[in-house]
Amino acid sequence: ETVKAKGKEEVRDEKWRNNTVEERLKHALVNGITEYIDGDTEEARQKYPKPLDVIEGPLMAGMDVVGDLFGSGKMFLPQVVKSARVMKKAVAYLQPFIELEKSLVGNTDGRHKVLLATVKGDVHDIGKNIVGVVLACNNYEIIDLGVMVSAEKILTTAIAEKVDIIGLSGLITPSLDEMVHVASEMEKRNFTIPLLIGGATTSRTHTAVKIAPAYAHPVIHVTDASRSVTIAGKLLGNEKLSFVKVIKDEYAILDQNHKAKQSFKGFLSIEDARKNKLQLKNKDYTPITPSFTGVKVFDNYDLAELRSYIDWTPFFQTWELHGKYPAIFDDEIIGDAAKKLFEDAQVLLDKIINENWLSAKAVVGIFKAQSIGDDIELLDDKHEIITTLHHIRQQNKKADGQENYCLSDFILPADSGKSDYLGAFAVSAGFNIESKIAAFELEHDDYNSILLKALADRLAEAFAERMHELVRKEIWGYANAETTNIDDLITEKYVGIRPAPGYPACPDHTEKTTLFNLLNVTENIGIELTDSMAMYPAASVSGWYFANPEAKYFGTGKIGKDQVADLAMRKNMPFNVMEKWLGSNINY
Ligand code: SAH
Repeated sequence: ETVKAKGKEEVRDEKWRNNTVEERLKHALVNGITEYIDGDTEEARQKYPKPLDVIEGPLMAGMDVVGDLFGSGKMFLPQVVKSARVMKKAVAYLQPFIELEKSLVGNTDGRHKVLLATVKGDVHDIGKNIVGVVLACNNYEIIDLGVMVSAEKILTTAIAEKVDIIGLSGLITPSLDEMVHVASEMEKRNFTIPLLIGGATTSRTHTAVKIAPAYAHPVIHVTDASRSVTIAGKLLGNEKLSFVKVIKDEYAILDQNHKAKQSFKGFLSIEDARKNKLQLKNKDYTPITPSFTGVKVFDNYDLAELRSYIDWTPFFQTWELHGKYPAIFDDEIIGDAAKKLFEDAQVLLDKIINENWLSAKAVVGIFKAQSIGDDIELLDDKHEIITTLHHIRQQNKKADGQENYCLSDFILPADSGKSDYLGAFAVSAGFNIESKIAAFELEHDDYNSILLKALADRLAEAFAERMHELVRKEIWGYANAETTNIDDLITEKYVGIRPAPGYPACPDHTEKTTLFNLLNVTENIGIELTDSMAMYPAASVSGWYFANPEAKYFGTGKIGKDQVADLAMRKNMPFNVMEKWLGSNINY
């Protein structure tokens, strides 16, 4: 923003530097300019009676403008995070002076405190960090406990710090259960403060049906970061009672509707669902014998190559800029913000690649396979079973002519007289990220910290796409004549699928243990599984390769108690443990 394009030449527009210090601070905040912030903050500090007055005066005035522009849709998340960076740097500059004063007069600021944490077992924090930044911009004091935080730590910190709100975040489905646990612990310990819920697999319905009933005080689902400010404001303001009542009523209706839907919907017994299994159309299908079976490790994969495989559309979604890349740049409203964000991403990506900030590793395996009911057995050369995958079958009653799918249906059964195969993979582009994140955080630079995490995620997905292509064309080679361009890859116009455990076709996260043991993932490349089956580093992807041309993605939907019991038996897992893992998928 300090640089305005003028013809081809770029000319810096520095007129704003002649304004009053208040105007300059506002300009820097609104435009996200950090260049002069220390000097301007110092000038203001000398002008105002107390260092805190600088925050409460000109800095907050500037952030109010940012808040208004954001609230009215004239400014977007990437810009707000940049404004927050300016604010954080100014506050950091003032901090020693404020501390000094506090020790003289015992002054404490009266800001509301919000505790944020990614729950135990989960490692994803981009969304949580964005919420923290947005709330901090609006004068909340944020206590961010980071990732994998136990209920115990959340609650003891909340008490010790006298926080006004707790916000929980999580990405994977097992985190939903952990959130219910935190809520019930809050109830047990007589908490009364509001609990906010956010993250990819959370929903208003889940919050209403499962979390809210565990805690007698407000529990509110926050759809996106921009909503967090309004919600926190209402919860701590004069409208609190009426707002809480509206939410409570709304959630009660959601809860009722959910229960009604459950009992209304028809389900088949697991035996009947199996009788209606998917029948492959091509009876003559003969699987192509892989040119390789076994496990292959890729150490330090070339990031420059992965760059061209990036699907950018989800990158913009992370920043709440919704639109398809590259058309998003022509969007009348968000086009400019998207362009600027993309440019910043390219600059950082150059650094990541040229200076080897991240390292990417992958392990893939291809094995002989046969289906036995809903299971898939993987076999070695001597036809001995290496391991067994346990899959879930759709149990909802289908319309006439429609089948009840299970991933095992895409693998030929033992008695087919033909050899079939299945692949597995785990990739990560997140190795070594921590030191760079720490360096950005030391500089109060949330913008680049979030940008780096978002780019690592993109590189991991790009890596999964690239490995899948290599597998199809070379390693397995079942589609060696394939000619696909990047658009075809992004729209998955190729033969075969790579369903990921924890996703709709295979929602049981514990199958990741099987996958990790099969490929020796942790030993081979260093990705670890948390208690909740999240992969660490967070920028990791794993899944199965199915090569059958008829294989496609689907969702298992909800399943009945009979299938849970059946799975528990097949997996040799206690029923109640199995039930807990499938929490979001059971129909009772
Ligand atoms: N181009 C996207 C790719 C990731 S999303 C990106 O860069 O983000 C698509 C992936 O999600 C699939 O390749 C598969 O691994 C997983 N997936 C999608 N639908 C699924 C389903 N129904 N069951 C299991 N996995 C699924």
